[in-house]
Amino acid sequence: MQVDKKYISKLLRILDKEYPEPKTALNYSTPFELLIATILSAQSTDKIINQVTKELFKKYKKPEDFVKVKKVELESDIKKTGFFRNKAKSLIGCSKKLISDFNGNVPDKLEDLISLPGVGRKTANCVLGGYFGIPGIVVDTHVKRLANRLGLTEEKNPEKIEKDLMVSIPRKRWIRFSNQLIWHGRTFCIARKPKCSECPMKKICPSAFKIQGRL
Ligand code: SF4
Repeated sequence: MQVDKKYISKLLRILDKEYPEPKTALNYSTPFELLIATILSAQSTDKIINQVTKELFKKYKKPEDFVKVKKVELESDIKKTGFFRNKAKSLIGCSKKLISDFNGNVPDKLEDLISLPGVGRKTANCVLGGYFGIPGIVVDTHVKRLANRLGLTEEKNPEKIEKDLMVSIPRKRWIRFSNQLIWHGRTFCIARKPKCSECPMKKICPSAFKIQGRL
């Protein structure tokens, strides 16, 4: 989908002004910790993930630690994050593959990352951008919603949204843009009650009037 370049420039200027240094809200100090935190973050909040990983990362420091533990014990350690049975399965499967195929290290290529159990493009791009500084667009629930509301895509499928955004947004901006949209989704463009009247995008956003009229 082609989007007007002047509109994109205005959008990026506003995002830079509002969110000059956007970073992921997840706490981590190694690529492995970022990978684990991102897998756990599905259907949860960053606040809960940071609470859980604060203790988790003291006990599980490397892939081997996830492999040698009993699944029920790991499930109990991550229970607060929700969907803990599936997540425990992913963490164990992912750790096993890191050991068998990548010498226990987190790879820095998209195709390698998405070969890991429980890792999709969203998680892979999050790790690539967040730790390795390799450009990628993270299409999480906020980016999906905002890309549609801001008229940057008409797609609902995350992979197709990612492709549309990769065409409209300059590559060097991909990491920053994803983080900025996530912060904007949390601050103003909230799923159920977007704060259009206070939003710095209200003059240019194609959904502002539509949504305000509905509220
Ligand atoms: S104007 Fe409303 S719909 Fe548009 S980005 Fe802002 S909060 Fe979201």
